[in-house]
Amino acid sequence: MRKQTAGIHHITAMVNDAQRTIDFYTGVLGLRLVKKTINFDRPEVYPLYFGNKNGDPGTVITFFPWPKQLKGRIGTGQVGVTSYAIPNGSISFWKNRLARFNIEYQTSIRFREQYVQFEDPDGLRIELVERTAGVLSDWEFGGITSDVAIKGFAGAILNSVQPNETADVLENILGLEPAGQDEGYLRFIASGNLGQTIDIKLTASVRGLMGAGTVHHIAWRAKDDQEHQACRVLLIEKGFHPTEMKDRNYFHAIYFREKGGILFEIATDQPGFTADEELEHLGEQLKLPSWLEEKRTELEDQLPDVEVRILEEDK
Ligand code: ZN
Repeated sequence: MRKQTAGIHHITAMVNDAQRTIDFYTGVLGLRLVKKTINFDRPEVYPLYFGNKNGDPGTVITFFPWPKQLKGRIGTGQVGVTSYAIPNGSISFWKNRLARFNIEYQTSIRFREQYVQFEDPDGLRIELVERTAGVLSDWEFGGITSDVAIKGFAGAILNSVQPNETADVLENILGLEPAGQDEGYLRFIASGNLGQTIDIKLTASVRGLMGAGTVHHIAWRAKDDQEHQACRVLLIEKGFHPTEMKDRNYFHAIYFREKGGILFEIATDQPGFTADEELEHLGEQLKLPSWLEEKRTELEDQLPDVEVRILEEDK
């Protein structure tokens, strides 16, 4: 039996510079840095997590900022565009804000919704769309008040090598509902209020190359470990090769590559980002597993100094 995901759990992308990424996602977009940790295989690289105040599933974008990472190319086998939901009536605020930060944007219409599209400093494609669904953010930063703040993901555009195969996984494994076709996109809707609108691009794209400025993978929500395991069993039954369950401290994860070439993850909603830090202090301290605490000073020295700061344009 198919499962029914609430939608996107998180999206993980690759970039070159930690501070530039913090400035963009907190300073310009107003998200909260909810976690700073280390990559065990490459301790000079932070995984950085940005989301709403709680770092709720459906709001979190994760980065691996690594200066040596070669530039990638957005194309097939990848998430092409990451979409964020903003409150109704806030689109002009965002257009003005992007202009003030000298960020060029375009607008386009898809499924009768207006999207404002732009790139992050590494070339990752982002878009904003007004949505009624999803509660208002209660995180305010740098002149972005709750009535206009990003709520979380609206969804994503998937650039698949085989759109029909990707559609099959969305519909028959993850349980999204087909919602029609418009201007070269096939839409699917998940059951949650955020990260629920997934569009598969049907027109041709160049072949994607993994690297800085591209999405590494997209994770889908499983409500608990039982559903997570059931998803893994279902994937195996359908001929996929999911990984073993991996403990990512803030969620449990399995990964598989769907036939459209995109790396999918299924991640549990629990335990979440407050597992090892108080809500008020999320993202402030470098979080290390207990067995690495004794090496804290050494590890911190290998990482670039970063800070969350109000940008000049907001002063
Ligand atoms: Zn992930």
